[in-house]
Amino acid sequence: MTNDLMTNDQPAVDALIIGQGICGTFLSWYMWKAGLKVIVMDEHQPFSATKVASGVINPVTGRQVVTTWLAEELMPFTWQAYQQIGKDIGAGVICQKNIIVFPPSEQMRDAYDKRIDEANSYIKNLPAGHASMLADMVFSFYGTAVIDPVWLIDLHTLLNGWRAILQQQNMLREETFDEGLLVVRDDSVTYKNVTAKKIIFCNGVNSFSLPWWKNLPFVFNKGEALIVDIPGLPADNIYKVGNSTIVPWYNSLWWVGSSYENNFNDALPTPIFKQKKLQELQMHLKLPVTVVDHVASLRPAVAVERRPFVGFHPFFPSVGILNGMGTKGCSLAPYFAQQLTENFINQKAIDPLADIQRFKRMLRPV
Ligand SMILES: Cc1cc2nc3c(=O)[nH]c(=O)nc-3n(C[C@H](O)[C@H](O)[C@H](O)COP(=O)(O)OP(=O)(O)OC[C@H]3O[C@@H](n4cnc5c(N)ncnc54)[C@H](O)[C@@H]3O)c2cc1C
Repeated sequence: MTNDLMTNDQPAVDALIIGQGICGTFLSWYMWKAGLKVIVMDEHQPFSATKVASGVINPVTGRQVVTTWLAEELMPFTWQAYQQIGKDIGAGVICQKNIIVFPPSEQMRDAYDKRIDEANSYIKNLPAGHASMLADMVFSFYGTAVIDPVWLIDLHTLLNGWRAILQQQNMLREETFDEGLLVVRDDSVTYKNVTAKKIIFCNGVNSFSLPWWKNLPFVFNKGEALIVDIPGLPADNIYKVGNSTIVPWYNSLWWVGSSYENNFNDALPTPIFKQKKLQELQMHLKLPVTVVDHVASLRPAVAVERRPFVGFHPFFPSVGILNGMGTKGCSLAPYFAQQLTENFINQKAIDPLADIQRFKRMLRPV
């Protein structure tokens, strides 16, 4: 399938997608697979949320270790989706890496024990042999548990692999979207020499300064991570020690995070985060730790309830959005990108809990 878009002065496409993070990647992939003509416009940002994320799809969350929203559906769905996109880009981008948990307190250990007693399908005891193997590496103050299954996504391979295909197919414009150049009509939009039936904003935190979306109840949530070397720690699992998650990263290094800050001055790494995380690692690990890098980004999130923004504007039907994934971009983005594609093609309903129509009153033009 090719899109001969650059040969025409006024190429007519189905969708102009702004942003190629996890949202823009899956939306353009689903649309392309459905035979739609798409252009993706993405400026290079080395520290976008997707590039800083660890890529974990964890079916449980919080201090009560509850099953996350839609987990029963999302776990099999995401496994299939990442396997399929991986085939198209010629690389494996999903694998199973369960989380071995070393609870930070008695209360947290009780929360895990309660779920095991209830036969929660995602929380298990760590086999004794595995626990004794780790005894030389990690202090276990309050026992252990395992979250199983957990998926780990190779986000950089995914973004780069899909970008290469977009480039080959003449579907990528590496530039910064400028809202002043967009003309919006009821049935189409024009941006420079591109005319599209729809424009769909997948540009993360930058969507919310745009006139169509600025009244949505969005929030930016800052997250930081250390990239560290921990020689000797087996990379066949993810580890949760104290409040840190330790995730296999590139070049045999580890990603250690994260933070969830709603009050911050900028999107840069902070010395306090580095100091706290290092102290925590030194308290819980028996192995030496060396910091190699320190990264930070802003998660685009929803302020009122943790459900994303998906769909087309109630008053500007040619303008759409796929955004507000919060801490769950790896699982929610593929699922809702598929729903948005089906909504575009045959008006299939989007889950009302995620559909942008729920904010119709806020989106009314004044
Ligand atoms: C520290 C940290 C750890 C995380 N860990 C996880 C995790 O383990 N699992 C999980 O599911 N989620 C995780 N997340 C959340 C996840 O990263 C986000 O939910 C997700 O990446 C958001 O994706 P997005 O596509 O909406 O935005 P982004 O990834 O920010 O993508 C937006 C894209 O738009 C482009 N862009 C922006 N403005 C313009 C413009 N004007 N013109 C052209 N292009 C533009 C940017 O360059 C970028 O490529 C984490 C986030 C952080 C910060």
